Amino acid sequence: MKLLERDGFDYLGTTIEVVLSCVICDTPARAFVKAVKGHSGYYGCDKCTQSGIYINKMTFPEINAALRTDIKFDEMRDEEHHAHGRSPFSRLSIGMVSQFPIDYMHLVCLGVMKKLLMLWMKGPVSLGCRIGSTAVNMLSERLIEYSSYIPREFCRKGRSLHEIDRWKATEYRLFCLYTGPVALSEILSPHVYANFLLLFVGITCLASPQLVNNFCSYANEILCIFVQNFAQIYGNDMLVYNVHGLVHLSEDVKKFGPLDNYSAFVFESYLGKLKRLLRTPNRPLQQVIRRIYERQFIKRNNDSIIKTREPKYEHTHGPLLRDLDSVKQYKEIQMDDFLISCSRGNNCVKLDNDVVIIKNILLHSNQDISIIYEKFMDKSDFFTYPISSSIIGIHKVSRLTRHLFVGKLTLIKCKYVLLPKHDSFIAIPVMHSEK
Ligand SMILES: [Zn+2]
Repeated sequence: MKLLERDGFDYLGTTIEVVLSCVICDTPARAFVKAVKGHSGYYGCDKCTQSGIYINKMTFPEINAALRTDIKFDEMRDEEHHAHGRSPFSRLSIGMVSQFPIDYMHLVCLGVMKKLLMLWMKGPVSLGCRIGSTAVNMLSERLIEYSSYIPREFCRKGRSLHEIDRWKATEYRLFCLYTGPVALSEILSPHVYANFLLLFVGITCLASPQLVNNFCSYANEILCIFVQNFAQIYGNDMLVYNVHGLVHLSEDVKKFGPLDNYSAFVFESYLGKLKRLLRTPNRPLQQVIRRIYERQFIKRNNDSIIKTREPKYEHTHGPLLRDLDSVKQYKEIQMDDFLISCSRGNNCVKLDNDVVIIKNILLHSNQDISIIYEKFMDKSDFFTYPISSSIIGIHKVSRLTRHLFVGKLTLIKCKYVLLPKHDSFIAIPVMHSEK
């Protein structure tokens, strides 16, 4: 890396400059490559200087402790933190604090979200937040019901809590950012649910490219409140590194953008792709290299790479409006950021300021594309604490209009995950794609 940083590398006669943007690790790996105390040590927080408190395990109760800086790190001021000498990374021109962001796949999805689910399902009865087996079953039924409503952008659609031991990080993310707040309402006791909503809103603000600029400081405020309330509900001994780390998330977001910009999810999903390339257990590296070369060759020689804005699956079933009969009808179209179709899971979008359901996709003779849709007449807040959900783009909707509207495809502003709730639906904007 030192050579690459200095000289770049030569690619077909052009010098490519290489700059290390950040290093993404889980918490133990981060401590290892930085050569600092692990998260179970007293000075184990890599973002602030507090000395932890040991309550059967290491906890970090302070939320406003002095922050570590790249300069102080380089000077190795905090001897307790630098217990293992100097990291080879510090010889690069990289901020040893600021360019080692906290990865939310590990900290939030596999960390806090998993911990909360475990506390609700199996935590000490004395805490008063256990939900009981009937509620666990009801929650599982809801998650299974929702799985048919999950858009194509999500690789995994969610499973029952009885399979939680096999849940992947993406399933915890799906629960934390989409299905959880809908599924958990009326199951958790109100103060436990309110605490979860702090986490949900905070992480939503930091994960959403649309919200992150205006809501980053707000997210930090409510994540700090989440951590304080968390200690009141579950006990001070639960303030382990993962929970404490939430108070540092917004600093990294300010530098690197929304959480998915720099999370381990991209590596995790690529690992999955690599694994699927293997045909036999022998010589895996050679196989992977061969398959990747084959694919690159096919890509270069094939024009049929997915094109956006080209409708698919022509049909003749309508619905159509009366003066629109010289058009071709389609079921599906890939947009730049997401796919929309006329079927459940992929048919709910924001158009103008309405939450609408797509009924048909039309290609006009001049190549313009429009959609036929119905819209929800009633739109209100799904929750009002800690903020009105409409402010962050989440709505409770009901009563579809009986008549059809037509609108330009270009007026679509975002796609929603639309989940049923009693006689209404909850519409939550899709923030990322796993494909
Ligand atoms: Zn800290």
